[in-house]
Amino acid sequence: MNILAVMEQLDGQWHRMSFETLAAAQQLAAQLGATASAAVVGRGTAALAGKLATRRLDKVYAVEHELLGEYTPDGYCLALRQLIERVQPWLVVFPHTYQVRDFLPKLAASLGRVAVSDAVSHRIENGQVVLVRQLFQGKVNVGVRFVGEGPHFASLQAGAYRADQAAEGAAAVEAFEPRISPEQIRTRPQEPFRESQRAVDLSAAEIIVSVGRGIKEADNIPLIEKLAQALGAELAASRPICDAGWLPMERQVGSSGQTVAPKMYMAIGISGAIQHLVGMKGARIVVAINKDANAPIFEVADYGIVGDLFQVVPALIEAIQKSK
Ligand SMILES: Cc1cc2nc3c(=O)[nH]c(=O)nc-3n(C[C@H](O)[C@H](O)[C@H](O)COP(=O)(O)OP(=O)(O)OC[C@H]3O[C@@H](n4cnc5c(N)ncnc54)[C@H](O)[C@@H]3O)c2cc1C
Repeated sequence: MNILAVMEQLDGQWHRMSFETLAAAQQLAAQLGATASAAVVGRGTAALAGKLATRRLDKVYAVEHELLGEYTPDGYCLALRQLIERVQPWLVVFPHTYQVRDFLPKLAASLGRVAVSDAVSHRIENGQVVLVRQLFQGKVNVGVRFVGEGPHFASLQAGAYRADQAAEGAAAVEAFEPRISPEQIRTRPQEPFRESQRAVDLSAAEIIVSVGRGIKEADNIPLIEKLAQALGAELAASRPICDAGWLPMERQVGSSGQTVAPKMYMAIGISGAIQHLVGMKGARIVVAINKDANAPIFEVADYGIVGDLFQVVPALIEAIQKSK
């Protein structure tokens, strides 16, 4: 039994979620007594495959073709389908990126399979893998089990697995050249979608003060900025704050924002929706301030203050300034 992780790269740079997928494949393989392998697809993939050779993997496949230089769903599906037919994995896992969302349903359907998309975790029940997906904007978790023979397909939500848990080791690299002819590529690639430019790298911050919809309006953001300043922290936010333009997109934490792992993450007026949690659950210490004692953020908090942020935050700022 083999679990194959398909890594994503653009112009020779890994997508930040690729190693989360690799870690997931390794964990699944260890729990199932299976082997884990990884594949990188493109043109000039030898260097990237070489980097993967230092990971605990059975095999690394450098899927290489001139026509894979630029991403096209046709090219990727043709290449991966041939690789899967050759390697015969039981499960193929992908990062749930924009690119994967584009081609994975087509790839799975071409092999008569479904793809389980955006899984947030897994568990093993009676020796079988159960993938957890969310429905109704995270209000319901469902367990999905594969039935029948592989290959099965799943994509994994950003932050669902930790890239720093991708284990080191050694792996043999194998070059794989799929058969693709130009007339099989029916679309002409244009400028690839790029996630927002990261002027702020929150992933390097040691302390993050993050604000959510509890702040009520844009005019109140300076209160949180003042706390961040007092703590020497970076400022971050939940998605509604960035969607409203109260803070720039690059400060968003969560599944469609940045994934952070500071020493301390302070969540202020943030409910703790799963899409937010996956971006910050790697924090060493989580402090939550929320007026609702039942807010899900308290489930992941090490320290919690149930109270009105408009009273708690000024008191905190005063206490921090005094202690200096
Ligand atoms: C595909 C998809 C991707 C998403 N990606 C992200 C993402 O990357 N990041 C992200 O954050 N979200 C993301 N979301 C949105 C996510 O589902 C939640 O809607 C969002 O995280 C909620 O933000 P919030 O906690 O600030 O607001 P709310 O859920 O409205 O919570 C506000 C909180 O503030 C508290 N509060 C109110 N007033 C006060 C007060 N005076 N003092 C103290 N507390 C107070 C309330 O009790 C409440 O808990 C995504 C959703 C989808 C569907």
